[in-house]
Amino acid sequence: MLQSHYKEEDSQNVSLGPVNPDRVDPANHQPSEIYDHRSIEARWQAVWQQTQIYETDIARAIDRASPEHRPFYNLMMFPYPSAEGLHVGNVYAYTGSDIYGRFMAMNGRDVFEPMGFDAFGIHSENFAIKKGIHPNQLTARNVERFRETQLKRIGDRFCWNHEIQTTSPAYYKWTQWIFLQLFKAGLAERKKASVNWCPSCKTVLADEQVIAGECERCNAIAIQRELEQWFFKITRYAQRLLDNLEHLDWDE
Ligand SMILES: [Zn+2]
Repeated sequence: MLQSHYKEEDSQNVSLGPVNPDRVDPANHQPSEIYDHRSIEARWQAVWQQTQIYETDIARAIDRASPEHRPFYNLMMFPYPSAEGLHVGNVYAYTGSDIYGRFMAMNGRDVFEPMGFDAFGIHSENFAIKKGIHPNQLTARNVERFRETQLKRIGDRFCWNHEIQTTSPAYYKWTQWIFLQLFKAGLAERKKASVNWCPSCKTVLADEQVIAGECERCNAIAIQRELEQWFFKITRYAQRLLDNLEHLDWDE
């Protein structure tokens, strides 16, 4: 199999740099020295899938009564499936975290490394508008592509049995539940505040979506508008947050 990738003309094009008698003559290279990543990765990813090696037994991991209670939660930021594919910056960030998760697993920890898709919001809406496809269909299609053709192929130890999609009712019922708890505790309030508004898109714009005074989507002039909104009273915790900085070991 590997033989087929090794051609005579390859060896003639290999530069050896300065002549060094200790270096191996490329003509004598064994074909097995070629790293055929396509077949090696596909083979091992199939084995991982079959053995479920990265699926965490959460019940066991969180059992405090067990002498082997050694959970390790290796959480990464979930990507927005709001484009044709994953950004290389996502992979850059995941690789380091995944190496750390593997290190902890090799140290006997029960590593839980979940993955999911953060699919609500203006990025997904913009992409759906651009494509002319309903966000519900487009998001499902993107999630499939992100998971099957990208995230599985990079070979990280993701626990796919616990995949999360923020647009799924099974997930956002908890976001709504949290909001209700904050509301009941008097920590959510409704009041008027000024926002960036696009009169053409009829939507609120974040500061970074206003480019030189214009809506980034349609270039209409963004205006300021008073709008009734929900706010969380995070200022009630300001002093506590400031005080807790004392306990953080972070660079300035
Ligand atoms: Zn606009």
